[in-house]
Amino acid sequence: MSTVERMWLRSAFLLFGLVTFCCLLGCENRSKGTSNNSNSSSSIGTTSFASSLRSSAKSSSSLSVADRVILSGVITYDYVPHGIDNIGLDYASIQKRAVRGATLELLNASGVILASTATASDGSYSFFVAKNTVVKVRVRAELSRSIPPTWNFRVTDNTANNAVYALDGTAMNVGIENSQRNLHAPSGWDGSAYTSTRSSAPFAILDNLYLATDRLLAAGNTRNLPPIELRWSTKNSTAEGDYTKGEVGTSFYDGTAIYILGDANNDTDEFDGNVILHEWSHYLEESLFRSDSIGGIHKDGDFLDFRVAMSEGFANAFSGMLLNNVNYSDASGSAQKLGSSFNLAKRNRVNKGYFSEGSIGSVFYNYYSSGDGKTANDFSLLFKVMGSPNYYANDAMVSIYLFYAQLKSQFSDQAPAFNNLLQEQNIVGGDEYGIGETNSGGLAFSLPIYKEIQANNVPVNVCSSADKGKQNKLGNAQFLRLPLMQAGNYSLVVTKSGAATTIGRPEIFLYQKGEVVGHAANEVNNRTTLNASLSQGTYVIEVFDESNRDEKNFENNTFCFDVRVTAN
Ligand SMILES: [Zn+2]
Repeated sequence: MSTVERMWLRSAFLLFGLVTFCCLLGCENRSKGTSNNSNSSSSIGTTSFASSLRSSAKSSSSLSVADRVILSGVITYDYVPHGIDNIGLDYASIQKRAVRGATLELLNASGVILASTATASDGSYSFFVAKNTVVKVRVRAELSRSIPPTWNFRVTDNTANNAVYALDGTAMNVGIENSQRNLHAPSGWDGSAYTSTRSSAPFAILDNLYLATDRLLAAGNTRNLPPIELRWSTKNSTAEGDYTKGEVGTSFYDGTAIYILGDANNDTDEFDGNVILHEWSHYLEESLFRSDSIGGIHKDGDFLDFRVAMSEGFANAFSGMLLNNVNYSDASGSAQKLGSSFNLAKRNRVNKGYFSEGSIGSVFYNYYSSGDGKTANDFSLLFKVMGSPNYYANDAMVSIYLFYAQLKSQFSDQAPAFNNLLQEQNIVGGDEYGIGETNSGGLAFSLPIYKEIQANNVPVNVCSSADKGKQNKLGNAQFLRLPLMQAGNYSLVVTKSGAATTIGRPEIFLYQKGEVVGHAANEVNNRTTLNASLSQGTYVIEVFDESNRDEKNFENNTFCFDVRVTAN
């Protein structure tokens, strides 16, 4: 799924129990440690794997020429492209593609790993093997790099204790002459249905990461990418519940892993590169850049919280940039014949503005493809801006305004062309706080984007509305910029003042450089207080009525509140 998709709050990490591997397409025996956090268990696996790689490489190279033969081959998988109109999958056009960069292991008859390598860009591999040895070749759905910038991406099965998918060849004696063994992962499609193991799916998923890491290197990335699993299963369905049973709801990134749908004839995303790379872009934002998105349900045309619009618009556009394809496609339905596709660069959109993921996606994609004062189809400037400390450690929340302000500051020659794209989408690019924005999205009180507030000064009145929907929509919350000239203990008091006659339940978040440094839930009617010991600096206060953040609350009230900040 793409257009309605969920990114969970960073705090909503899932906990997993004891993790051990079991047999899947191949057989995996390595213990994965006992951490109850999926992120840390993943890195334990990576560390032990890296050391086994080094030691096995040494032993295989110690064979003398007279004692060894070369075993080589090519690893391929079935890739199912989208149809000519970008809707649905086209099984009549299945392509045999190279498995690129995947971890390849040579095992002896007892299952001991004798050597490890990675497949080349054409899927080829070769090993030196002692003559007359029984060996088999295993390719793991894993992409790994041990020199900086490092990474480790694995496609695992969340319905089988997060085991890594692997494809095994047959164990055979290599004899006394060089020989070839090719492995192929078929799609499992028999012409009208999936009737056998869908072995190619994990490799199709993985190949997006090969492409993405390659393009990041070309864009000048030198920073390590933290390890992450991409969890896919044929059981991963739109049902919501127990992830270990495949009830994942949608394809999404939860802050520790990426879950990918695999439920045939309903929604399965292993060949939807945009969906996979959209979620991976969220991971990238959090790993190398910064995202202040609160996640939640969203789609193009929605009036979104500006932080959500930024993150989703970026993720849509960046998936297209990585694939270098302007069409975002997502197959679904019976026999994967249905689905959706949209043009990322489309300029004429509904509900244009800083609150629209479509507008932001359009700005980013068109900037990427433009050759106006830059190389066309090159995202290195975008990467440099988002990866700069002035961006990810900025006092302002991450938004299209912050991006533009930093582009202007770091690459001033780029500002006019980018600003033209902003104007096309009815976004007024002022400073990182969106000063000068005139597009209210129909909610006058949503402007300015940030209200200015001073300690020990007059209260500032802000409103929280459900007119554009709940939880992560425009107008649910209001933002205030609070510069503090001196450190001290401060009280933030939010009191209902105006609008709805029903009881208000204000809630407060206080941020410094995007990090939550204070939070006060509502405890008494119409009033909430947050006391905090704060250093000198600029803070962002977020105020909303808790009923407007709750998507299961169907009341529609606009509440207004007076916000006061006082030094104690
Ligand atoms: Zn998303």
